Amino acid sequence: DQPALEDPFAGLNAEQRAAVEHDIGAANVRPLLVVAGAGSGKTNTLAHRVARLIQSGADPQRILLLTFSRRAAGEMTQRASGVLHRLLRRGASAHSPVTLPWAGTFHAIGARLLREYSGRIGLDESFTIHDRGDSEDLMGLVRHEIGLSQTEKRFPLKGTCLSIYSRVVNSRDPLEQVLQSTFPWCSEWEGQLKTLFGAYVDAKQEQNVLDYDDLLLFWAEMAADPELGPEVGARFDHVLVDEYQDTNRLQAAIITGMKPGGEGVMVVGDDAQSIYGFRGATVRNILDFPKQFTQPVHLITLERNYRSTQPILDASNALIAAALERHAKTLWTDKASSIKPQLVLIPDEAEQARWVCNRILEHREAGIALKSQAVLFRAASHSAALELELMRRNIPFVKFGGLKFLEAAHIKDVLAVLRFAQNPTGRMAGFRVAQLIPGIGPATATRLLDAVGEAADPAAAVEAFVPPAKSSIDWAAFSALYRRLRTPGLRWPADIELVKQWYLPHLERMHDDAQVRAADVEQLAALAGGHATRESFLAEITLDPPEATSDRAGPPLLDEDYVILSTIHSSKGQEWKSVHVLNVVDGCIPSDMSTGNQDDIEEERRLLYVAMTRAREHLQLVVPNRFFIKQQAQMGDRHVYAARTRFITPAMLGHFEEHTWLSADTRHERKPVPESVRMLVRERARNAWK
Ligand code: ATP
Ligand code: MG
Repeated sequence: DQPALEDPFAGLNAEQRAAVEHDIGAANVRPLLVVAGAGSGKTNTLAHRVARLIQSGADPQRILLLTFSRRAAGEMTQRASGVLHRLLRRGASAHSPVTLPWAGTFHAIGARLLREYSGRIGLDESFTIHDRGDSEDLMGLVRHEIGLSQTEKRFPLKGTCLSIYSRVVNSRDPLEQVLQSTFPWCSEWEGQLKTLFGAYVDAKQEQNVLDYDDLLLFWAEMAADPELGPEVGARFDHVLVDEYQDTNRLQAAIITGMKPGGEGVMVVGDDAQSIYGFRGATVRNILDFPKQFTQPVHLITLERNYRSTQPILDASNALIAAALERHAKTLWTDKASSIKPQLVLIPDEAEQARWVCNRILEHREAGIALKSQAVLFRAASHSAALELELMRRNIPFVKFGGLKFLEAAHIKDVLAVLRFAQNPTGRMAGFRVAQLIPGIGPATATRLLDAVGEAADPAAAVEAFVPPAKSSIDWAAFSALYRRLRTPGLRWPADIELVKQWYLPHLERMHDDAQVRAADVEQLAALAGGHATRESFLAEITLDPPEATSDRAGPPLLDEDYVILSTIHSSKGQEWKSVHVLNVVDGCIPSDMSTGNQDDIEEERRLLYVAMTRAREHLQLVVPNRFFIKQQAQMGDRHVYAARTRFITPAMLGHFEEHTWLSADTRHERKPVPESVRMLVRERARNAWK
């Protein structure tokens, strides 16, 4: 009775099994909704379902798996193929998981489908994708071009304009309503915003670029088309969606458009974990799911939690039971434990960092690997003190959800060259590239882009362009590069090598820390090697950039063992043996940016719920008495005295072991942070990530 030969489905409970076996082999697979609390095995059940489908003969290429991040997609396909391997070894499946299902985020899958159908929907196949920064810049440019920034001095900033636009697209609500409910201070500009958005849409079209929202919007439109919709839908026999509570109306419309009858559709989610309302996601998607299709939906609920100990579950349940909106779920577990979650009261954030480090090392002594421990926080900037302390103590760490690789100026430069080569009409990329060349400013760049945009052969237009005299040598080098990049037949990733060689001298000219940046460019080139084509590389890196900043400090104590630092938002779906949550204070959770609106505050409660339910055995909520708030520029940063979050009411304290840490006696023994370490942290913050 070897474990390897055990039936991989044997461990599932009755409800999970019902979900996995739902309509297997039936001609019509009815739509299925699984609503269940944290840690009840929703994701695990989805992975088993994928394996079961393939085992029963489904074609993996006709299974579409939509997840929240690329990492989640990878983990789920891995789990599914693990199950298939075990089935294969038992002789219970004829199918080895050689081909994998289509798996990825809505945006990534959208990009892939749109490229494929581009000809049919009036898109040029060589479209490029704007990231958030590019989109903001284009919005700013259009705003300037139609004169709004000049005539209307108080007109909303480009970032706000983009947020409003994005909200309208994703919620499918009229502009007027979005302004009223979410951006009331911009209501007076409704007419001008309409004009602006019209011009923004035209600009994108002219330049053959899509922004993030377009990927969903165009896909939804394709899905709603009477001819194309069924055709695209018919490519997939099964459409499975994880974390459905964080999808928006447009994403729901994509599913219904492709599968009006809901055949083969399975979604899983937890309304108590909905934390993306600020981006237009709506929990109504789960509530409305049963009414969405032309045939009735089958509903399964899971109530057993396999992740956390009873005391952790009790505290989390108490937190969510106090929510204004009822989440009728009773989670239970048989993982008894005498260890209650800790509520740790601490003087300030520096002490918080020390205490957390102490605790991490204690846990490691007790046999919990660093990798099984995570520290979670509300905003990426909140881990600064902790990062410093981890470095000082040589505790390696990796941070998720922090500053993105893509935001670095030098990475943007390299990508802009590649984008400009792929799509010569894209002005944001073109503008950036032209201005890398010394002596070329905005006016010359505009002249160039006008010429290139209209040319039948863009490379010839670049060659023919006459730059200012002092730029001519650099210009010649660039036109030679551009010609090669535009020449068909150059094998990827050779392109990026050429770009690198061209770019490195510019990097040295522009930046004092060129060496650090060059290493990042190398890393980018290495990533490029994993892709078959320039388009697929550019699409993926734009939509789902590498999440972790890889600067693990100091020599690792253990090989490849490191603590995880993550924002709560990025911790979704994951679990660790020990979880620390930083700054569990009012002003942070709930964030003081959201204290106006009841709905926002409730979303913050669910955020804390998500954080707490990541823990399997140990949960530590840390409450610093003094806490640093990074504020709007004009008000300056400051320290404030903070109190325990309002979500942990006095009545709930019984679920915690309170612990007060006063370390005044040891404070004088603290070694100062070596200047070299301080420099390193500051350098990275200031230079490497512009
Ligand atoms: P979340 O809401 O946080 O996304 P989830 O419902 O998706 O949670 P999973 O991540 O799938 O939950 O599962 C939580 C943990 O429980 C995982 O470690 C998983 O392997 C384990 N688990 C799930 N089902 C079972 C089972 N039937 N027997 C044993 N362990 C299980
Ligand atoms: Mg999950």
